[in-house]
Order: sequence, then C-alpha cells, then structure tokens
Amino acid sequence: MHKNAEDQPQSTWVSWNENVQHNYTYHHTVKKEKELAEIIGRTSGKVRVYGSKQSSADIAAGTDSLIDMRQYDQIVSIDDVKKQITVQSGITLKTLITTIQDRGWSLPCLPDIDTVTLGGALATGTHGTGRDGKLLSEYMVSCRMVMADGSIRKVSEGEELMDAARVSLGLLGIFSEITLQCQSVYTLHLKEQPMHDDVWMAQYDDLLDDNDFTRILWMPHTDHGYVILGNKIDPDTPVKHNPGPDYLKHRRAVSRMLYKYTTKFPFLTTIANKIIYKLFFTSKKESKGTLYDATVTKSRSGTLELAEWTIAKSRFNACFTELKAALDNSDNAAYVHIPMDIRFVKKDDSWLSYAYGEDCVTVGCVTRDAANADHYKAFEVVEKIFLKHGGRPHWGKRFEAKGEELSAVYPKFEDFKALRQELDPQGKFLNPYLTELLDVKTVAKSKNRAA
Ligand SMILES: Cc1cc2nc3c(=O)[nH]c(=O)nc-3n(C[C@H](O)[C@H](O)[C@H](O)COP(=O)(O)OP(=O)(O)OC[C@H]3O[C@@H](n4cnc5c(N)ncnc54)[C@H](O)[C@@H]3O)c2cc1C
Repeated sequence: MHKNAEDQPQSTWVSWNENVQHNYTYHHTVKKEKELAEIIGRTSGKVRVYGSKQSSADIAAGTDSLIDMRQYDQIVSIDDVKKQITVQSGITLKTLITTIQDRGWSLPCLPDIDTVTLGGALATGTHGTGRDGKLLSEYMVSCRMVMADGSIRKVSEGEELMDAARVSLGLLGIFSEITLQCQSVYTLHLKEQPMHDDVWMAQYDDLLDDNDFTRILWMPHTDHGYVILGNKIDPDTPVKHNPGPDYLKHRRAVSRMLYKYTTKFPFLTTIANKIIYKLFFTSKKESKGTLYDATVTKSRSGTLELAEWTIAKSRFNACFTELKAALDNSDNAAYVHIPMDIRFVKKDDSWLSYAYGEDCVTVGCVTRDAANADHYKAFEVVEKIFLKHGGRPHWGKRFEAKGEELSAVYPKFEDFKALRQELDPQGKFLNPYLTELLDVKTVAKSKNRAA
C-alpha cells in the first residue's frame, strides 16, 4: 500500500444519514481519469469509490482506501447531432440534467433525487417511472472504466460487458467517462389525485398504457393511493395551475414530527398515517413542466432510510395483495411510514437490473426516523413478502438477502459473480458487505473443489 495519502481530513467515512460508518486509512480525491487509474492501479489492498454517500446499503466504503469521486464532475463533450453528452462520473444529476435541459434535451426516466452522482446512480440501478422509462443506466451508450489493475477499458452498447457493467456496484470496474443518449425535452401535463386502493389496483395497467408518466404514492392504513399521471403536451398549451393548498409544502416536516415517537410506540403510526393522508394527500393538483422541473424533488429537510423492492409486473397483483394485508394488519408490528412509492420500469437486458427480462413494478419502503432504522419492523415484513414472490431488491437501499437468495431472483447473478472474479481476481473492489452479498468465499471453495 502506498503511503502517499493525498488528503486525510478525517478517518471515519459517514453516509449521508449516518447509518453507515467505516474507518479508513487512505483517502483520495480525484479530478482526472489518470489519477483515478493510478490510485486504483497502485493500491495493493482494497479500495472503494464513493459519490454523494446517499445509498442506504453498505456499498460505498468499508475498505482501507477510499476515493471521493465528487470533484471528478466535468462535462467532457457534447454531440449535438446525436444528442449525446459525455461526462465525468462524479457529476451530480442536478448539473447533468440542467445542462442538457438548457440544450433542449432530457433523459426520459429520472429518479426522485438530483443530488446523487451519475456514477453512483448508474452503479446501483437508479430508476424513475413511466410507460417507456428504463433504468438510468440504460441511457448509457458507452463508457470508460478503470479496471482493478488500473488499466482503462472502453465499453460500448452491444458488447456483453456493457450488459454486465450497466448495473455493477463498482465491482467490475469504476466508471470514469460516461456517454449518455439524450432525447428532446418535453413538457408534461400532470394531474394528481387520491384514489381508493380497489380503484387504482383495478386500473393501474390501463393507466400505465394511457399515460406517459404514472406514479402511485401508496398509503397503508388509509386504503388509498395518491395517483400522479402525466402526459406530454405542447409547452404552450394552457393548463389550470393548481398546486393545492400552500401548507402542502410542510408535508415532510410534519411527517417527521408525527413519526418521531412511532419507533417507541409503533401503533401510533396508524394514527399518523391517517392524519398525513387527510392533510396532504386528499386534494387534487394540476401542473405542467418538464420531467425534471415537475417531478423531481429538489430539496429535503432531513434524511431517510430507504428500502425498495421490485417485482415483475405479471406478479405484482399477488404480491401487492399480500403486502397490503400484512401492512394494514395492526397485529404484526409492521407499521409503515407513508407514502410507499410505486413506480414502473420497462424491461431490459442488464444482468443485475430489476427489470432484467420483464417489465417491473418498484415499491419503496421508508422510515423517516433514520437513526432507528434497525428497529423498523416494516423492512423485514416487506422483504419477506417480496422474496416469497420472486422480488428483487434495489442495490442502493436496505435489504438483508444475500448469496443464494439473490441468485434465485437475478437470473444472471452467477454469471455476474464469475465475471467479477475474472476481472478482479484479487477482490480489490470488495468490501465486507459486498463479499457477503456475493457469497464470494463459496465461489472460491467451489472452484477449489472443481479443481
Ligand atoms: C432521498 C433519496 C431518494 C432516492 N430516490 C431514488 C429514486 O427515485 N430512484 C432510485 O432508483 N434510487 C433512488 N435513491 C437511491 C440512490 O439513487 C442510490 O443510492 C445512488 O447510488 C446514490 O448515489 P450516490 O452518488 O450517493 O452514490 P454512493 O451512495 O456514494 O455510491 C453508491 C455505489 O456506487 C458506487 N460508485 C460510485 N461512483 C461510482 C463510479 N464512478 N463507478 C462505479 N461505481 C461507483 C459506490 O462504490 C457504491 O457502491 C434515492 C436515495 C435517496 C437518499
């Protein structure tokens, strides 16, 4: 291990909500691909890179050496003919999207957060929602990756390595420059209203077909979802602007206050949910704007701890019916904070994508009391139900499943493990969590047995 740690302002790495903390010895900040390659190449121990530290899963640190990607954030080039932009992977989604929006472009499926880095978002399969929306990483047409030995590899659409690399948790190599295919920007006409669970459940497939944008904020203990639908319109089309009552802007702060005591007294959650629903999710709203301007949250007053599970659309009804019965049942202590975010993603071919091979539905599960996330029973109950129905976890969020359980739901999981072993035989990019997640020891043992 080289001793030239460039900057060591701290010795403990802390995630944004403080739930993941790790000591480290060497800390680097990079601004160039060459620096990234040199550091990775000369590190003989283990090394992880990190972006905005906004993942709930323990995937961004836990190694002796760490690399902060956030200053590696420049725009490299723009191709006006192809509508493609090449950027350094530490750029935030905010800078990326505002830059392309200024040129009249968009990425057609955006997550509900813009403070994360592009590299972090791609690595974990970050997604949005929509009839044709795919994971953000599906809009990557080529990239450069720094491999475990410090060499640089260019990967393009059509190569098998691209299908493996799009969602790869920084385990195959580290994204340096990324080229994204953009589309023309469009304006959405959004309409939002509460709907009884029986109504949206009966209609969601049609709603998805009939609208460009569909998102359902589901609220256990209230029998309702808040349905947000959007359709592309000419930007000059007049739209009745109805943002709802002014106090709606206090929803997150009020929720945090109401949920403050629900860790100690979980049954209070049912009352809190009913109050939050009545106050913040019963009015209709109407607006227009670009996907970014009108649907992506720009600021949050506090942190959260998040889990998110995904299920093939064909199995959503059975899974949701069981989920609703469990979460609405006050006997099982799985009191869950609202809303639970239900979104829709189009199928793709990326090995570790939630939508590999089939269109999928994603269901978020959140606690607004991040510090007490370990005692939030809902995470356990939700995970058990999704695993039973063949659901897949979001890589950047909280879950317990490991090894064989993941192999059972991700058809290319074993192929991914084998490729990782081939590309990084020393396990340079593995931290303890990822080693367990991939069950790396078992691979080594079975290889020995075969030999
Ligand atoms: C409030 C909130 C809202 C969210 N909303 C959504 C949402 O709407 N949809 C959704 O899908 N997710 C959502 N997420 C999850 C979030 O998008 C992911 O956790 C994302 O990975 C965070 O990016 P980051 O820059 O913080 O990455 P980090 O958490 O710092 O890192 C994540 C992973 O990426 C790796 N990594 C970082 N940079 C690179 C690189 N250049 N090359 C290779 N690997 C790299 C890290 O090693 C780590 O394994 C949300 C999270 C929060 C906190």
